[in-house]
Amino acid sequence: MSSSIYLTLKKYFGYDDFRPLQIEIINSILANKDNFVLMPTGGGKSLCFQLPALELKGLTLVISPLIALMKDQVDGLKANGIAAEFINSSLSAREIITLQDKALSGKLKILYIAPERMSLGSFKMFLKNLDLSLIAVDEAHCISEWGHDFRPDYRNLKMLKSLFPQTPIIALTATATGKVQQDILKELGIEQAKVFISSFNRPNLNLRVIKKKNALEKLLILLKKYKNESIIIYCFSRKETEKLSNELRGEGFKARAYHAGLEAEKRKKTQDLFIKDEINIIVATIAFGMGIDKPDVRLVVHYTFPKSLEGYYQEVGRAGRDGLPSDCVMFYTYADARKHKFFLNEITDEKIKKQAERKLNEVMEYAELKSCRRQYILNYFGETYLEKNCQTCDCCNTEKITFDATIIAQKILSAILRTDSRFGANYIINVLTGKITDRIFDLGHDKLSVFNIVNDFSIEELRDIIEQLINHCLITKTDGEYPILIISAKGHRFLMQKEKIELIAMLAKDIDEERKPEDLVYDKVLFAKLRVLRKQLADRMNVPPFVIFSDASLQEMAYYFPVNTESFSLISGVGSRKLESFGDDFLKIIIDHVKENNLVSKEMQKSRVRKKSSAYKQLSDRDTSSITINLLNKKLTIIDMAKARGLAPSTIISHIERQIDFGAKIDLEYLKPSQEVYEKIKTAFQQCSDERLRTVYEYLNEKYDYEIIKLVKLIMKVELK
Ligand code: ADP
Ligand code: ZN
Repeated sequence: MSSSIYLTLKKYFGYDDFRPLQIEIINSILANKDNFVLMPTGGGKSLCFQLPALELKGLTLVISPLIALMKDQVDGLKANGIAAEFINSSLSAREIITLQDKALSGKLKILYIAPERMSLGSFKMFLKNLDLSLIAVDEAHCISEWGHDFRPDYRNLKMLKSLFPQTPIIALTATATGKVQQDILKELGIEQAKVFISSFNRPNLNLRVIKKKNALEKLLILLKKYKNESIIIYCFSRKETEKLSNELRGEGFKARAYHAGLEAEKRKKTQDLFIKDEINIIVATIAFGMGIDKPDVRLVVHYTFPKSLEGYYQEVGRAGRDGLPSDCVMFYTYADARKHKFFLNEITDEKIKKQAERKLNEVMEYAELKSCRRQYILNYFGETYLEKNCQTCDCCNTEKITFDATIIAQKILSAILRTDSRFGANYIINVLTGKITDRIFDLGHDKLSVFNIVNDFSIEELRDIIEQLINHCLITKTDGEYPILIISAKGHRFLMQKEKIELIAMLAKDIDEERKPEDLVYDKVLFAKLRVLRKQLADRMNVPPFVIFSDASLQEMAYYFPVNTESFSLISGVGSRKLESFGDDFLKIIIDHVKENNLVSKEMQKSRVRKKSSAYKQLSDRDTSSITINLLNKKLTIIDMAKARGLAPSTIISHIERQIDFGAKIDLEYLKPSQEVYEKIKTAFQQCSDERLRTVYEYLNEKYDYEIIKLVKLIMKVELK
């Protein structure tokens, strides 16, 4: 079975291997099971149902709420030679009837529909008469009222399981909390579904935060680095998007503003221009993103920092869906907090307001981080990430130096002391930097000796130093809504005994010094020529350029220089239909370029090992075991974890062991078998004085499963530590 799957993968999609979990999900569908898939944007969800659709005999029905995207998806499938269509309100009644006939006659493999179709009696009749092999529910979180994007139309999907009890359903989403996940399974009537949860790490995204000072200048440097490549810049307000896009156009960039205040017509036009590579920069409010699915966005900029980490990760997630290295840059200044707070103050519901404040503080904490950003974000979303250096965030990439912070620490502590330990960090910083606020004036703190005695550190730096002093326990911060700073006993000692202290500073690199995430070695000139050809072909066919080939495919062409059909067919993304439709055109350009420049093709092997640049190389042992740990943190049993991951129980135990070896602190108490069983096996280990499971297994007369023995061994090991 599985070799036919690989043939289908190459023939129709042009790929050599699967991304994490894809093969497991596909096998589970082919075993006729219901499935739930939680995978980040760009993880490769579509392939999980598109490929089985080709292996299965009948039709695959895909329900998707995003009408604007259906056409692109279907165009993409057609370009790969797959019989696919969509039915939604953008079609005429006549067109719909023709398509329904086509589906009924068995000529279609994949049919996309919008959920509201399901409420039409006639449509239900049509469905009943189909030979349905698989039902895919995309954006499945829309079915849950707990989700952030509830769509009443999705309630119609309840009936699917009763209409088609024998047909497997696969529900897919990129955002679902545990509660939403349960809701989805319940609403779709697939409680027994196999659950696949993939890591939310996006290793190809380079995460950076830079100081928002000379912002426009820095932005221009960034944009020049990504000439002609797709870029999204998120701004705080509609006005700001207009202003900035004007400025950028003035500098010669092809930029357009996008926000909810524009007319629908204009918004659509702007999206189209972007999708078709006519313009490359969108300056948007958060309104931009839902309706687009562009795989080759190379840079996402937050010109003003966002108001929650959820929003942030969703927005940066729009970069690099094709798996190529992409940059995510947040401009940060404490001053922008005021813009956000202005709106927070408008919120009348106290509870909602508090929550919004908390979310804002979390983003600021993230922005001011000294340790790995990736780790912080993944932990925030409940994942364990144990890598010491992610290599693709600024904190892991910047040099850290220690500096003598004795004087500045003394100044900060004195300011706290002189103001009677009654204020928070902002107030202390205002005093130190000589800012006269009403409060400072009223309390006469502008007369203090510590007023205006710091001029060699920025506000951000001072916030950071205070944070480090808290970590060093010289200062304590009270809990509550308005935390105040108090000097600890250690802090008093530090002042009295004139101790010294060293803190950490990051050597901020200038933005133009920073390297691009991965300097690919492909021929940039050829790549540009191939893009021009791609654009011409796309315009002729009236489809977005990425439907023809992704940037990843073009980069491979510009790296390997294939000069005949055979080697061209080995490029990732080249399936048999695309080879036939576009092979000659692309080959001609490559051959000419190779001749002109005296280049030689590089050899490619069939099913070659992926280039190192591919961010989606199979999950390393380390990654895959950390996914298991997420489940462990949710206190799943070994058996349930094995089920969720489609792995053997003993593999799960190995994962846990590996993480413990890497130094993870893991609570195994809840997995411990009964004391009696535990003692028996433990004694057996001691008496055999042999580490091998088999010995103990036999010693215990094969009475206990290997897994339990393995688990006990692990628990013993942890207890010894
Ligand atoms: P999602 O729906 O999870 O956001 P998509 O299904 O749109 O992700 O896939 C993202 C990108 O990854 C697409 O450009 C797709 O063609 C590509 N892709 C998916 N699976 C593979 C694979 N096995 N090998 C290479 N590229 C893949
Ligand atoms: Zn990092």
